[in-house]
Amino acid sequence: MKKQKTIVQANFLKFLIFALAMQERFAEILLPLALPGTLTYSIPEALADSIKVGGRVVVTVGKRKQYTGLVTELHSDETRTAGFEVKGIDSVEDGEPLVSPKQIDFWQWMADYYMCTPGEVMKAALPAMLKKAERIGRAVRKRNEPLVWADVGAEAVESQLSEAQSRALEQIHAAWQGPKKQSKRVCLLHGVTSSGKTEVYIRLIKETLAKGEQVLYLLPEIALTTQITTRLGRVFGRKMGVYHSRFPDGKRAEVYRKQASDAPFELILGVRSALFLPFKRLGLIIVDEEHETSYKQQDPAPRYHARDAAIVLAQQLDAKVLLGTATPSLETYRNACAGKYGKVELTERFGGVEQPQIVVEDIKELRRKKLMKTPFSPRLLDEMHVALGRKEQVILFQNRRGYAPVLSCRSCGWTPRCTACDVSLTYHAQADRLVCHYCGASYPVPKQCPQCGDTELKDLGFGTEKIEEAVRAVFPDARVARMDLDTTRAASSYTKIIENFQRGDTDILIGTQMVTKGLDFDRVSVVGILNADQSLSVPDFRAAERTFHMMAQVAGRAGRRGKRGLVVLQTHQPKLPLIGQVVRGDYTAFYGSQMAERGLFNYPPEVRVIDIHLKHRDDRYAEEAAKMLGQLLRPHFGDNLLGPYKPAVARVQRLFIRKLMLKVPANLSAVGIRQTLLAARDMLLEQPHFKSTTLFFDVDPL
Ligand code: ADP
Ligand code: ZN
Ligand code: ZN
Repeated sequence: MKKQKTIVQANFLKFLIFALAMQERFAEILLPLALPGTLTYSIPEALADSIKVGGRVVVTVGKRKQYTGLVTELHSDETRTAGFEVKGIDSVEDGEPLVSPKQIDFWQWMADYYMCTPGEVMKAALPAMLKKAERIGRAVRKRNEPLVWADVGAEAVESQLSEAQSRALEQIHAAWQGPKKQSKRVCLLHGVTSSGKTEVYIRLIKETLAKGEQVLYLLPEIALTTQITTRLGRVFGRKMGVYHSRFPDGKRAEVYRKQASDAPFELILGVRSALFLPFKRLGLIIVDEEHETSYKQQDPAPRYHARDAAIVLAQQLDAKVLLGTATPSLETYRNACAGKYGKVELTERFGGVEQPQIVVEDIKELRRKKLMKTPFSPRLLDEMHVALGRKEQVILFQNRRGYAPVLSCRSCGWTPRCTACDVSLTYHAQADRLVCHYCGASYPVPKQCPQCGDTELKDLGFGTEKIEEAVRAVFPDARVARMDLDTTRAASSYTKIIENFQRGDTDILIGTQMVTKGLDFDRVSVVGILNADQSLSVPDFRAAERTFHMMAQVAGRAGRRGKRGLVVLQTHQPKLPLIGQVVRGDYTAFYGSQMAERGLFNYPPEVRVIDIHLKHRDDRYAEEAAKMLGQLLRPHFGDNLLGPYKPAVARVQRLFIRKLMLKVPANLSAVGIRQTLLAARDMLLEQPHFKSTTLFFDVDPL
């Protein structure tokens, strides 16, 4: 009797809960648009059962535009619908939620921190197919095309860790676990190139998977080559999924679906957008090459840094983070030195191979002595001859694509410029066109100078095309390949160039910074850095840091397995401290000198920066809008607000640009700062004549 009563009570309770749930009459829908928040729709009775938070629905925006949106909240709060007519949801896309509440939290954090709308985050987060009113069943995927890197099982190889690697592994665990107050979520693995970091990652992945947890392995876009995919695939086989922006969208949608299912990949190897995949039990995020600036999304919003976002995601999901690199960013190294992150070092190459020897060639002096007949110093030429004679390979690094960065009239000095941007055009010999590297527009080469009529335009400076021409002239028998943006437009060509080189089918590889990214070759004995100063002349407080990273990384390509390599570094400024730091591989000295400079001028990582960009078709309006914004913000921030100023390239794609820079001191509330900035933006854009101004914020710009 008593038992029956409890059952009745329980059933009544269930009914009550059911009835209450039934009452939810409205749904908040997030749309992949730059709207400030969600839109409210009513729930038609027929759909009431199938509408769930995290599921997608189709709604009409405006008169008849249909969008797929995401349900973020169910409620019955009429006050939130006051003042407008509420439309009903048209149809339901997912029976089961596609996005978890934790993911929505992550999106919201990203929108708040990077000062964009949640809709813009949604746009970045979901593969296009999942944002359209379309079902995955219609996705075109070639039959038999594997979703996984390969359709074979994992090999049972067990490559033994060296003593140094084992010690590093222990230290990483100690940093993560440690006694409560001392344990760190994030650990930096600072290991010189070829020290065996990847093997340490593999061990950590295995350990994490064995605990039944998932791993996310992040790589910068460009470094996600078949090299690393094959290496990890050999170990993890079907457990691993790859998420790459160059994959067809259907394939990405499929990986996304699989991760949301009950049988997700245990390991995801992916680029920054892989952060948006659903993870059920994430245990570890590895951010490889953490110093890479391409982790930061520049355009469009959300302008997020994948490393920093990974740390926040790990906090939300209670996972650990390992940041790996041979050349840590100043931000990361500072946190590691301050004890905020764990810090583990591998100071020697695996197998005891010595770091490459770096010799400096003074090109100014060599020119003066008339010894630079080609873009290569006599020493570099000698070393190349020797290497080729021994069937070894050479990498030449020139961080400029095209043939010549500038064409100039021999008589009057006129140089062709882009009509849409405020920059000079680069000559591309292969296409025989002048190309704007900002907007991509191309122009025919003028037959004569439009200013004075002279018929001779001379080309100044060196791009990779011109280097290739020079190499072929000096080494007519060598097999030469060039790797830059122009030769790797097709998705497969990048891989092809690397595979050919790896197989030994190429003797000399010429490339831009693309050749520096985490590639691992066996037979490269000589690396030539043709002009070390080029990236230093950029007017940016990070120029020295970038240059150091680039040099150290490209030098790291020399002499990997079993043999010491040689780097010939050509420069006009051999006495520059930075050059000495690269030559000695002295990261500590580099860090010390850079931090001193940043401290002196109050730059990151001493402060945080928020850049404000304004663009307008009319230069006067750009100027006026920027002035007004400055006036609105100055009272709040005083000297911490710099500008408005014209950036070095002040017009791109016909839009005139102004910038302001806000240095955020540690003692001001970040929330308050954002509110002030957003309020000022709204006030500005409310002015009828400034309406068509484009205004956006770039938080922690790079
Ligand atoms: P990093 O990631 O630091 O550049 P890698 O992990 O690629 O270094 O290691 C450099 C080279 O040494 C690779 O060819 C790798 O296969 C080899 N290696 C690293 N650790 C081991 C190990 N424990 N046993 C055998 N070979 C190893
Ligand atoms: Zn002229
Ligand atoms: Zn242009």
